[in-house]
Amino acid sequence: MKSTFSALTLGAFLLTEPTLAFQLTDPPSHVVIVGIDGLSISALHSAMQDGLAPNMQRLRREGSWSDRARAVLPTVSGPNWYSILAGTGVEMHGVDSNNWVRERPRLLGTDGPCVPQPTLFTLLRVAHPSTTLGAFFEWPMIRTLLEPTSALNTTLLAPDHESIPAAAAFLRTARPELTFVYIGEVDEEGHRSGGGTRQQRAVAVADEQLGVVMAAVETLEKPMLLVVSDHGRDVLGWDHGHVTEGEVNTQFIAWGHNIRANHRIISPLRNMDAAAIALTSLGVHPPLQWTARPVPEIFLSTPLPLALSAPPSTASPHPWIYHPGVPTAQESCVSTFRLDVPVGFLGEARVSWTVTFDRGSFVCGIVAGGLAVPILAMLVVAARKVFGKRVGRWVETMRRRVDGPEYEPLSSPLSGLELGE
Ligand SMILES: [Zn+2]
Repeated sequence: MKSTFSALTLGAFLLTEPTLAFQLTDPPSHVVIVGIDGLSISALHSAMQDGLAPNMQRLRREGSWSDRARAVLPTVSGPNWYSILAGTGVEMHGVDSNNWVRERPRLLGTDGPCVPQPTLFTLLRVAHPSTTLGAFFEWPMIRTLLEPTSALNTTLLAPDHESIPAAAAFLRTARPELTFVYIGEVDEEGHRSGGGTRQQRAVAVADEQLGVVMAAVETLEKPMLLVVSDHGRDVLGWDHGHVTEGEVNTQFIAWGHNIRANHRIISPLRNMDAAAIALTSLGVHPPLQWTARPVPEIFLSTPLPLALSAPPSTASPHPWIYHPGVPTAQESCVSTFRLDVPVGFLGEARVSWTVTFDRGSFVCGIVAGGLAVPILAMLVVAARKVFGKRVGRWVETMRRRVDGPEYEPLSSPLSGLELGE
């Protein structure tokens, strides 16, 4: 089936930029990407606090991690999984929603209507024809995104509880170079029940399933395990698709051979960077149209950038340019305090009201609040002047309609006379 790739398509795949490519010494030999759909940072941390995610805790302790890996916009699954598999944003691959159909795309990929972008698997197949590749997933759209699946040796569309053991068996027996394992239940449960205890249980189950994959990964020589999510969730844990901190930020873990341990990644990061890390580790340069980058900081054989190895003593002289580890103008106006007020429970979901003040809005709020009082008072006085008489007449008319006319008491014929006792 490898011959189905046309020479034209192949040419597009091989558009690489060697001068920008990151050279990795002592690379991993096997890469496994575990994707947990819709795992929010808040659900993850409350699960870890309750001891429900020991495997993710271990991977973070022994690997490089971040809770600020940015999702692609919109924060829905189809666009993001395709970015994670194909290393580009929606603007390049055109998968703009979960309703995307290959035959009727709204936005053509840069390579034509039927090949929006080459996936990791296709690129690896072209570069190393004898490589072993597999994907295991319960969401049918992953199959659509992986088309043509002929680049893969094995694909399995089955519920998590079937696909995870099958993936583990595949890792142990086929010793594949690259495997993608998708876990869908956390997102499903979030949509069903919000951010309550049921979603916590789904996170715990996903962590157990991750443990099954980890045990198989540890039987491989020089393995690397990447854990990513397509998006987070809104503040109530039900939904996603918008641009909020909770939906846009995701967990990212790299663990394994030649990976820095107990290291919080400081470089700006996107969930799709997993694609470039995997591809580079397996000896293939990301093609020119990719925006995903390999994040050298996670590899032990790469020295840490200077800004990361020593704490910065002064702020960046160019605050509009991002230097890793150096506070920028943008960072200096990040929230100074945050109020998370629990309001109650909606079913099993905790309803909370989060108010975030940053310095700018706080100062603006005080100024606006201070100005609002006299402006409001002036408006009330003006309104009374303009409408006061009119309103008074209307009230009087209405009162007369209800009570009838008010008669003046007749004056007494005796009034004005002084009456003697
Ligand atoms: Zn979802």
